[in-house]
Amino acid sequence: MYTRRIVEAGRWIIIANGLAGIVALYRHFFHANNTTVATTLLLFVLVLAGNWGLRYAVAASIVATVAFNYFFLPPINTFTIADTQNWIALFAFLGTSIYASHLASRIREESEEANARRRESEMLYRLGRQLLQPENVAQLFNFIPSSVANAFNSPAVTLYIAEGDRIYLSDPKRISSPRVAWQQTDAPGLPGPSNCVDRTRAEIVRDLREAMMLPVFRPAANGCPTTIPLHIGVRPSGAMLVEAITLSRETMEALSGLISMSIERAEALETSARSEAAKETERLRTALLDSVTHELRTPLTSIKASVSSLLSQQDLDPPSRTELLTVIDEESDRLNHLIEQAVEMAQLDAQKVQLEIQPYRVADLVNPAVERCRTAFPNREIRVSLSATLPKVLADGAWIEKVLANLLENAIKYSPANQPIFVTAEPQPQGDMLAISVADRGAGIDALEQGMIFDKFYRGQSYRDPSQRNRVSGTGMGLAICRSIVNAHGGTITVTSQLGHGSVFTFTLHTVRA
Ligand code: ADP
Repeated sequence: MYTRRIVEAGRWIIIANGLAGIVALYRHFFHANNTTVATTLLLFVLVLAGNWGLRYAVAASIVATVAFNYFFLPPINTFTIADTQNWIALFAFLGTSIYASHLASRIREESEEANARRRESEMLYRLGRQLLQPENVAQLFNFIPSSVANAFNSPAVTLYIAEGDRIYLSDPKRISSPRVAWQQTDAPGLPGPSNCVDRTRAEIVRDLREAMMLPVFRPAANGCPTTIPLHIGVRPSGAMLVEAITLSRETMEALSGLISMSIERAEALETSARSEAAKETERLRTALLDSVTHELRTPLTSIKASVSSLLSQQDLDPPSRTELLTVIDEESDRLNHLIEQAVEMAQLDAQKVQLEIQPYRVADLVNPAVERCRTAFPNREIRVSLSATLPKVLADGAWIEKVLANLLENAIKYSPANQPIFVTAEPQPQGDMLAISVADRGAGIDALEQGMIFDKFYRGQSYRDPSQRNRVSGTGMGLAICRSIVNAHGGTITVTSQLGHGSVFTFTLHTVRA
């Protein structure tokens, strides 16, 4: 306020000096004709109108007219005008100067307004981009007041959401309730913001509810902040109070639309994410139930049948007894394996696994898993080829052996008995990673399934159908477990496969830096 007065006084002084200067110049230094003097004065007035506005220009026009008459129109140094023609010249000067001032100041105002619109559009654009960032509705509600306050340089913004009567503030100490004249309460001698904090929440909510019901926005007036109602569809959903700024009608409408749309978008995203998650949970539940009931029932049925035969036929010959006992032994192992896998998966899902990462020679990870597989499947050929110069890798030995065991078991399950399995390892060209691969010469996996086999409970189409001749028992958990373990090590697991030619499963581990 104080600075504005100083600026104003300064301008009047400049105008007075400018006029005096022009008069003195033509009176004492250049003796030009009256038209030149009038044009110079007119130019001065136009410059004022263009830069400082109509008020200054009109005042300067009047003073310039009087000075022109006094100093330049005969009889000189008097206010009287002898010649009628000079009367006309004088009024023409005054008229031209006021009208030209009006035009110049209108151009100035229009350009200022265009600049203000441009700035507001830029702010809205920036705000719109910011409002796309939050990932859920709660985050967005907390984000809106501070973003609007930042974008429009407002000291306080209050967002009211009708659902649940929720209030979000840009400044936690300040609420811009519509009845509260913040600008005035800040002034000395008047009650401070604590007064507003004293208002009960119910009172504030009542005011905000009223603000929400406004059919259109209400510009800042009488100390009340700018009030912008928010609508979702046609339903009033809340209001926003923006303190100490004046915005054009278009910008307020755009702001209201932008905020409403961002809330609508976040709500829609959340609903769709929730329904996706519900669908996924349902899918997993069904898959788990299918897989577990089927895989549990098969070995249990075999065990039950074998035990019943043993009990009912006490006089069985030794080879038949051994055969039944072998079935019981194998099927119990299968059951055990299934339960082990389910427990591992649950642990990995719950992130309860604590890895004990240590440097390992690749051979020390590969060989035990291969040996165990050779013992379990003595008729299968497993060819291991590991270079002696491989760098050490960082791993939890027990978990990585599980990955290798799963991949080897799959390779054995899904490739013909007379085909060998290959295990190789090589450092990755980029970064400090090493890739370990298990390859088979099986039927391969089609491109569509390659994207799904690492999902929990996914089982290959041709292996899961009980009516299919080549049905292979399994749970669909093995590769999902492998992926969780490898990811926990900071590596990745992938498959390359071609139908009819076999598959190569490759996972990466960090190497020890030399
Ligand atoms: P499971 O073997 O118990 O079915 P996995 O998660 O280990 O479960 O494997 C998922 C699916 O990936 C398998 O059902 C199979 O279709 C496919 N698969 C895995 N390994 C191979 C392989 N070596 N060759 C061909 N298909 C494979």
